[in-house]
Amino acid sequence: MEFETLCLHADDNKKDEWGTITTPICQSATFVHKGVGVPSEYSYSRLSNPTRTHLENTVAALEGGFAAFAFSSGMSAISTVMKLFKAPAHIIASDDLYGGSLRLFRNVNAADGFTFDFVDTGDAAKVKSLIRKETVAIYCETPSNPLMHVSDIAELSEIAKQYGLLLIVDNTFLTPYYQRPLRLGADIVIHSGTKYLGGHNDTLAGFAVVANKELAEKLGYLYKTFGACLAPFDCFLIERGIKTLPLRMDKINANAAEIAKWLRGRKEVKKVYFVGFEDHAGYAVSKKQSTGFGGMISFEVENRALAENILRKVKVFQYAESLGGVESLITYPMLQTHADVPEEERNARGITEAFLRMSVGIENVNDLIEDLKQAFEL
Ligand SMILES: *Cc1c(COP(=O)(O)O)cnc(C)c1O
Repeated sequence: MEFETLCLHADDNKKDEWGTITTPICQSATFVHKGVGVPSEYSYSRLSNPTRTHLENTVAALEGGFAAFAFSSGMSAISTVMKLFKAPAHIIASDDLYGGSLRLFRNVNAADGFTFDFVDTGDAAKVKSLIRKETVAIYCETPSNPLMHVSDIAELSEIAKQYGLLLIVDNTFLTPYYQRPLRLGADIVIHSGTKYLGGHNDTLAGFAVVANKELAEKLGYLYKTFGACLAPFDCFLIERGIKTLPLRMDKINANAAEIAKWLRGRKEVKKVYFVGFEDHAGYAVSKKQSTGFGGMISFEVENRALAENILRKVKVFQYAESLGGVESLITYPMLQTHADVPEEERNARGITEAFLRMSVGIENVNDLIEDLKQAFEL
């Protein structure tokens, strides 16, 4: 089956006796045993639940993985995956990461005795040079948040295999519709399902998709032990979102390309970060490993006053955190996603007081551009 069909029918063999088209929300914490010592397929919803199994099978199929685990948020997925490692584990991670992942690595995992090197994972030679005997994994986001750095997944996976490391890729920005890291050799794919997979800004979710049985067993044990599982109703919402993932992504991708071009033409805009520009440093790698550029655009305007003016004046875009939904959102990384990053480091990387990030939605693109036009006026 092709991707669009899988979004709807990947797990149809799990249909129930009533022939329901949508997966029922199985709102039960526990399940009756078949007999003394005769286990049922399900026993307790922290371990597994029919609604969740259906969703997990669907996401595993979309990513081409051996198994998927549905978590209560992207952060709970990442936190649980990090429990695969023990101190003094050393991990090489992208230097441009989701703020919550950075906080977890630097403040929580580091306190447990992990060490990290944060580098541009687009520079494979640099990654290789940092490997030492304690190194256990490479963790990357591509494209990265919010600077849109691109890493070559196949190249990183070759290095990971050579040195026996796990390659973990956060695929939130492109989704499996545009990029399938496991096929390129990654071992674990992470998602904030809150974003494009759910797609409607209405629920939190997270996924870890693993490439093989061994990882599925290890992560399955941690999953049932930590218990950050996704509730049945939230599974239903994410599954409903996934049904329209290709349609939404196509529209978002087209809208974003137009808006990025428009932004680049404005004299008040100093720089636009968008992977779909042919002169973007990661364009060639992106064309090789992905089939779309997604809907995320960051840009720097002339000064803080204009950045604040835009945030105050937008009407169709909404000034809010998060991304990946049908509604277009715009955010101020300095005050929101990257508030925990020290100012000097932030500025050095370009996340200045005049830097904004937008998640383009599915509105009519002319309305979005008109909205920006009026928001740019001081
Ligand atoms: C939002 C996000 C996360 C965290 O996911 P939550 O669902 O908010 O916990 C992780 N990685 C990326 C790239 C994200 O955008």
